[in-house]
Amino acid sequence: METNWTFKHYARRPHGFYRMGPAIHRGSDKSGRFILKIIHAGLAVSVNPLGDAWAGTLDGDFSFRSAAPICEVLMTDTTLMTIPGQVDPVPVVRDITPRDDGRVDLIGLPKARIAELFADAGLDTKQAKLRAKQVFHWLYHRGVIEFEAMTDIAKTMRPWLTQRFVIGRPEIVEAQHSTDGTRKWLLRTADGHDFEMVFIPDADRGTLCVSSQIGCTLNCTFCHTGTMRLVRNLTPGEIVGQVMLARDALGEWPKGRMDISEVEDEAEYTADGRLLTNIVMMGMGEPLYNFDNVRDALKLVMDGGGLALSKRRITLSTSGVVPAMARCGEEIGVNLAVSLHAVTKNVRDEIVPINRKFGIDELLQACADYPGASNARRITFEYVMLKDKNDSDADAHELVRLLRHYKLPAKVNLIPFNPWPGSNYECSTPERIKRFSDIVFEGGISAPVRTPRGRDIDAACGQLKTAAEKKTRAQLDREVAEAASAS
Ligand code: SAH
Ligand code: SF4
Repeated sequence: METNWTFKHYARRPHGFYRMGPAIHRGSDKSGRFILKIIHAGLAVSVNPLGDAWAGTLDGDFSFRSAAPICEVLMTDTTLMTIPGQVDPVPVVRDITPRDDGRVDLIGLPKARIAELFADAGLDTKQAKLRAKQVFHWLYHRGVIEFEAMTDIAKTMRPWLTQRFVIGRPEIVEAQHSTDGTRKWLLRTADGHDFEMVFIPDADRGTLCVSSQIGCTLNCTFCHTGTMRLVRNLTPGEIVGQVMLARDALGEWPKGRMDISEVEDEAEYTADGRLLTNIVMMGMGEPLYNFDNVRDALKLVMDGGGLALSKRRITLSTSGVVPAMARCGEEIGVNLAVSLHAVTKNVRDEIVPINRKFGIDELLQACADYPGASNARRITFEYVMLKDKNDSDADAHELVRLLRHYKLPAKVNLIPFNPWPGSNYECSTPERIKRFSDIVFEGGISAPVRTPRGRDIDAACGQLKTAAEKKTRAQLDREVAEAASAS
């Protein structure tokens, strides 16, 4: 027996975690994102959009108890597999998840949508537009979390708003502060999924590392997020909500008089005196597989009347979703970072498996074509240093050759591998990293080594959520005892 069906609720039905009868099932979400097969009760085979397959037994919460890759066994069906994400986007009006109390969360919505909601709730068009403009400013520019605080809105109007709308923030599950100033937060969505955010202060800037998905569909072998299943995409509200929460925590909302800016697109914001000056989409997930939500959220971040952060201070990191890269430049216009990590097909196929779908040449060509890239706005190539895997002199020379061949305005970020429990790699030695960096520098390309930050709080992106989940009672007790004896 073989059945075809569609996932109605993506969040409740992530790919590959089903217990079903002895049948073969294929499934995809609304936009055809996943395909999977389940063969027998208790035994599952899951195929992701790249054609990787796993077989394993399932435990009570529908996750694999013991899963082993069985690549290529089911590869005959790859023609059926659409790649995940909005690669061929269909314009769909975003669903607003209804709250139990029927009120609508305004965070994540653009001004025009807020005006529509106000009109639907009974205001005439002109009133709705004016109120939307005021409310938008209070929400995104001033960061207020109560309608009562919106002092230029009539006192009688404020309860009207409170009855119908809310101003949401992700819930904070855990907040930690590293000895080097790095801060990390474990956050929770309204429907109970955890994700993370990290803030890294430096002498001249403060960078917020923002998540785009809960989990990831891709399975880069050195990345902890890659071991998690994709639970769901974050909504625009949950993405922009991270930035707003960081501003709350850092106490960085303007407190001065009302000054509604007429500048809609470009930021008037400057780094002067601010802690949070830069944003990197380098938290959990692949931002280009959640294109529309990431774009909508970043538009709010860049809006001169909203959070007003310049696109030059925002960097989106992709593992190489080639078909979405041009759109990213055109529709979002932020800086691009590409997780290259290897210069040969064999190694990149292994460690960044999306390479099997979009190879190195295709990827570098898309970088060369990236709208807005120039010597002033170079593309960052991220390169994680894995001992004896991608760190030889020959790799460094090949990296220089490739970047020159495609005439890329490039800088290389060498990232010491941050190990996690169960990872199969070691970080390259400091001498090896230095040598690699020197070769790339000698090739005329800047290749700084990124200093690990917040190691005492496991702050590397993708590490927080699992660290919190995996801590046993005994570990926590031991930590408390150690802290007590140290003081
Ligand atoms: N999915 C996107 C963005 C999130 S990952 C991407 O892959 O680009 C952000 C960066 O952290 C990527 O360059 C990723 O390869 C890197 N990274 C992930 N796990 C790491 C680890 N354990 N040590 C060092 N860098 C890691
Ligand atoms: Fe996903 Fe990026 Fe991790 Fe790869 S490195 S698994 S794309 S989050």
